[in-house]
Amino acid sequence: MARYIGSVCRLCRREGMKLFLKGDRCFTDKCAIEKRNYAPGQHGKGVRTKQKLQGYGLQLREKQKVKRLYGMLEGQFGLFFQRATQEKGVSGELLLAKLERRLDNVAYRLGFGSSRAQARQLVRHGHLRVNDRKVDVPSFQVRPGDVVSLSAAAAKNAQVAASLESVKGRGVPKWLELDAAAFKGKVSSLPARDDINFPIQEQLIVELYSK
Ligand code: SF4
Repeated sequence: MARYIGSVCRLCRREGMKLFLKGDRCFTDKCAIEKRNYAPGQHGKGVRTKQKLQGYGLQLREKQKVKRLYGMLEGQFGLFFQRATQEKGVSGELLLAKLERRLDNVAYRLGFGSSRAQARQLVRHGHLRVNDRKVDVPSFQVRPGDVVSLSAAAAKNAQVAASLESVKGRGVPKWLELDAAAFKGKVSSLPARDDINFPIQEQLIVELYSK
């Protein structure tokens, strides 16, 4: 499966904000946003900041930001949006709920990985179970009542233990219930809009795709 293999810190710098793509490093002064908070490239300092953008430019940046936050490529993100519009409700909120319900995101939210990329690797390597069945598809959509757990091998991993420790500071959203001692979590409900506390203006994404 295709994936972005460039520097992820460049993505944060392009969006002008921390997207927390590198786990614990994002909370240190080694973070590229702390050191060079301007767009990457030779003319990076001249790139218009979001505050100066409007219309299409603003909508595009919002879509790019959310796409990069969840570590997705263009085609797959567009597909998620298309599916969100086929359901009843507010398209922007449905899109965010779908992104949150991805198995790699749930693994990250539960603290099995310190970043979504690390959590996705656990999924791809077959370390995630949903209702005791192995699922290795990062985009798998969890449903209320599902129990997401780690394989016995991953549960012994020192990196997983460190991630579970760091999730204490980050907190687990209220639509998930973590049982850290058993290396599992339960999906207690669908994610609501106010469960996503990252600054996102999803309406701009809807407007972009509606053109
Ligand atoms: Fe983004 Fe984290 Fe890199 Fe900082 S360290 S620029 S938050 S990925």
